[in-house]
Order: sequence, then structure tokens, then C-alpha cells
Amino acid sequence: MPQPLIAIDGPAGAGKSSTARQVAWRLGLPYLDTGALYRAAAYAALKQRVDLKDSAAIAKVVDKAVITFAQAERGVKVWVDGIDVTSDIRQPDVNLAVSPVCEVSEVRRKMVAMQRNWAARGFGVIEGRDIGTTVCPNAGLKVFMTARPEIRALRRGKELGIDQSPESLAKLTAEIAERDRRDTERDDSPLKPAAEAIILDTSDMLFADQVNNIVRVASERFGTRLYSGSTRP
Ligand code: C5P
Repeated sequence: MPQPLIAIDGPAGAGKSSTARQVAWRLGLPYLDTGALYRAAAYAALKQRVDLKDSAAIAKVVDKAVITFAQAERGVKVWVDGIDVTSDIRQPDVNLAVSPVCEVSEVRRKMVAMQRNWAARGFGVIEGRDIGTTVCPNAGLKVFMTARPEIRALRRGKELGIDQSPESLAKLTAEIAERDRRDTERDDSPLKPAAEAIILDTSDMLFADQVNNIVRVASERFGTRLYSGSTRP
């Protein structure tokens, strides 16, 4: 049986993080949200007031930044140079800075090395944009989660508590569309399904079904014991 290393990729708002967390918990596996690491790199660049059009300056700052992380109850906790930035990395300025920062090849090299190091133990659920294609091409199960753009924007809007405001929702939809465009069009490890990935369109799926689907395939493939019942976290 292959080792239970599960790669989950897909665009923003496809439900990757919540699904990956729940799958990891159900299977008793560690979990890593790689987007949080790119967000920490973007935070470091913003903190140093780097010109986001200057790739060399971004590369230099991110190279120096000490980015550390640990699994927490509801995802991942992240530190930059010893400062806990777990909530800062979810702020709107970081949402905007993360695309130009994650396109810099030196940044991707550093992040990919950290992620491969984490995955080297051979088991876990790791989620991002390039996991199945670049970070863990040997993962025993690869899932590419997607959903229609308007559904993804609505889900993110609900998470942020702004789904009742058409204006905020329109802004969020545009921001997600722009991040999708940049993620799929970048030269270095663009967002795309790995050849052997299972494509999961969650537009019309219940959250529990998304999770059950992946847990079932994982259990068959890895022979992992199924943890039943609870919906935590
Ligand atoms: O998943 P999340 O939306 O938090 O990721 C933030 C950004 O980091 C994404 O928009 C994407 O551009 C970038 N990212 C990436 N590669 C990954 C994970 C995230 O380029 N593996």
C-alpha cells in the first residue's frame, strides 16, 4: 500500500482548506495549508515596504525572513521572524500582495523546500495550488477541487461575513477571478490538475459529501482506518 500522502489542489474558495482539515482529522493525519506560507512571505514583503513590482527585492526579503509554522486546532499557525502573524496573513493587504510575491521563483523555491521537508515523513494532507504537480508529485492520492466562480465567491463571502453586501461580494468575486488568472497563467508551477488527479467539482455538493468522498477513496487506497461520526474541526 502507498503511504497516505494526500495532495489537494484547486482555486481560491473551492473549499480546499476546510475539506483538507476535516479529511486529515478523520484519517488521523497531519495537515498543512501551503497558502498560509505564501501569505507569510507576502506579509514579510509588506512589512519591509518592498515595491511589489520589484521581484529581486521581494526575493531578498523573503530569503531573509524566518518563516515557521505549526499545526493548530483550526488550521496552521504561522510566525515571521518569531512574531505570530496567523491573523495578519488573512487581512486584505496580504490578499492583494500574495499574487505578486508567490510568482517570484526564488520565493517558490523556498516555500517548496519547506513543504517537501514537511511531506518527507510520507504521510499527511497537504493543500495548495501546485502540490500534486510540483511539491509532492509522488503523493498517493491527488485531488483537484473546483467549483463555479460565483459559488466560490459566495463561500468566501460567507466565511468573511460579507455575503449580505452585494458590493463587497462583487469586489471579492473580482479579486478571486484575478487571483485565479494569475495562479493559472504564471510561468512557475501554475495551478493545474496533476495528470492522475481526481477532479472534484463541489459546486453542487454538500460539505459532508466532499469530505466523505475523499475519505472513502483514501481509505480504499491506503487501507487507513476510518474515523467515524464526529464533524470536528
Ligand atoms: O490558499 P490561499 O488562498 O490562502 O493561498 C494564497 C495564495 O497563495 C494563492 O492565491 C496562490 O496565489 C498562492 N499559493 C500558491 N501555491 C500554493 C498555495 C498558495 O501559489 N501551493
